[in-house]
Amino acid sequence: MKKNLSTTLGVALAIVVAVAAIFVPQHRARARRDACLNNLRQLEGAAMSYCLENKLPFDKTLTPEAFSAYLLPGRDGAPAICPSGTAPYSSFNVLHGPRCPNSTEHNRIFVTKGCRGEKAAVWAAALSRGAARGLSWTDSIDPKEITIGFYCGKCTGTCPLGTNGYPPFVLASGPHCPLSAEHNAAQGHPWRNGEFFDKHGNANTNLSLSAVDTNSWSVWIERRTQSNH
Ligand SMILES: [Zn+2]
Ligand SMILES: [Zn+2]
Repeated sequence: MKKNLSTTLGVALAIVVAVAAIFVPQHRARARRDACLNNLRQLEGAAMSYCLENKLPFDKTLTPEAFSAYLLPGRDGAPAICPSGTAPYSSFNVLHGPRCPNSTEHNRIFVTKGCRGEKAAVWAAALSRGAARGLSWTDSIDPKEITIGFYCGKCTGTCPLGTNGYPPFVLASGPHCPLSAEHNAAQGHPWRNGEFFDKHGNANTNLSLSAVDTNSWSVWIERRTQSNH
């Protein structure tokens, strides 16, 4: 009996060790990935602020040193680096965003999230403009008609893998990334006008575009368009 119990405990312990061996490294890899994504987001935001304040175009290539005043330093005061390697983050432009020098997986996730975020922002702006212009869900809109700068998550309206905006799209479907199927596997989390979307990011076409109060954001976009002329 005693022997059986210790065997059972031994087996249980072996299972715990095996499970830990599988999941602990996964957990660590995820923590490193999240730290890197955090760094990348911070680099991108700092570079964007730097460009806006200095009136530089978003396709200007910058070294992280150039806008270090906008960055929070790492724990030891040195610039933050990706915990999956030793290479520092290198030069980039806002249009394409920064890249991780140590992990292709980190880049894949960062770029996918970036594209989905941009698509969601472009879609929200298109709905706002569609509503202001009396369009319906089945109408198409060309994102180029909408002034970039007021509505976008990153203010580029472009997939981080490309340089052109998203092609024209039907308001009910939202924009489509021509560069990666993965970027279209899910729509981005809708930005601002959440009432137009269900929890999966699909448009709620039961709502009339024109009936919904679009107040401030559509007014902003229209105003911005006018002031640019
Ligand atoms: Zn990384
Ligand atoms: Zn994309």
